[in-house]
Amino acid sequence: ITQPDLSVFETLESEVRSYCRGWPTVFDRASGSHLYDEDGHAYLDFFSGAGALNYGHNNPVLKRALLDYLERDGIAHGLDMSTTAKRAFLETFRDVVLRPRGLDHKVMFPGPTGTNAVEAALKLARKVKGRESIISFTNAFHGMSLGALAVTGNAFKRAGAGIPLVHGTPMPFDDYLDGQIPDFIWFERLLDDAGSGLNTPAAVIVETVQGEGGVNVARPEWLRGLADLCRRHDMLLIVDDIQMGCGRTGPFFSFEEAGIVPDIVTLSKSIGGYGLPLALTLFRPELDIWEPGEHNGTFRGNNPAFVTASAALDTYWTDGQMEKQTLSRGEQTEAALRSIAAEHAHAGAGFRGRGLVWGLTFEDTERAAAVCRRAFELGLLVETSGPESEVVKLLPALTVTPEELDEGLRVLARAVRET
Ligand code: PLP
Repeated sequence: ITQPDLSVFETLESEVRSYCRGWPTVFDRASGSHLYDEDGHAYLDFFSGAGALNYGHNNPVLKRALLDYLERDGIAHGLDMSTTAKRAFLETFRDVVLRPRGLDHKVMFPGPTGTNAVEAALKLARKVKGRESIISFTNAFHGMSLGALAVTGNAFKRAGAGIPLVHGTPMPFDDYLDGQIPDFIWFERLLDDAGSGLNTPAAVIVETVQGEGGVNVARPEWLRGLADLCRRHDMLLIVDDIQMGCGRTGPFFSFEEAGIVPDIVTLSKSIGGYGLPLALTLFRPELDIWEPGEHNGTFRGNNPAFVTASAALDTYWTDGQMEKQTLSRGEQTEAALRSIAAEHAHAGAGFRGRGLVWGLTFEDTERAAAVCRRAFELGLLVETSGPESEVVKLLPALTVTPEELDEGLRVLARAVRET
């Protein structure tokens, strides 16, 4: 194996780069669930661009739509102009995603990335309610801007801000309560007690499954309790579906299983379908209170991403197949993880997840990183998550075949055995 030439990354690119350190090669092309480095080595991708590639790399249907659009000189950049590509996306999103679910949310394009969608959601909630504080949860991840970091749990990432992060109030996420206090009595007492210092917050922001936080899965009844608490205390409910939306947990929106309707929803990552930046903040029509231009930016609405997003919704979300397939691949994954965990029970191995997002854990928090390194050597890309990077997180493309899934899970089992 030739040594990859990483010198310009190491000498010119900032030390802040992170994911690439676990994958010391130079990638060149990708197709479906595979990436290839410049020497032609294939890697099975169970990371999927941190959840941005639910339909795999260079999905042929989306690629065709994109190439057709570019070949006819479709508009690439258009600020928030009305374009044919944007119109087609809005109509498709309304007809394929919103209406069938009985949702009448407005759609806003807040900027190119997930963080922008969260930032807009927090700003809007504060403006609507005229209050500062936002309730967030332990181990939450909502993005890297100051507002989004203030509702993010990870101390290391928060420290990167260099200043105190204010107006975020963390509460224990469901898994910490171990199902013991489902009715939020403690939370309600804090809200009711003037002495607690917790003046009514503007909103609660939550992930139904914490992706970066270690694949922590909230129970549907906990989410319903949270939605009810928000209603009773006049707080808006924001579901950050940036990583778990677009079918990652099975249904298009991850909150569907709980039967709740959030006031505000953030989407990004896989909404563009092809890995092109696109972010959406959805909100109930009565929250549409910003004056024209009160929130804007140059890259809001990426026309090539509208084209691939529309093609993805048309191709995968007009019948129930995608959800069924994801749940079936999820069962396949769960069975394999159960057997890995049983084989390594002496090392305290465990697993958790939903749909096609799964986490493998060990008592020894260093083990996950070692497993990911060994998996890379064996041709499988997986990343760690959790506050101490103690969880091996699996995010295969939703379009992964059962054979590819089986192969990846066998490589994972071997990587665990060899670390
Ligand atoms: N919210 C959640 C739940 C995420 O998982 C992420 C990214 O991992 C973000 C927000 C931030 O999105 P982005 O990295 O596109 O800014």
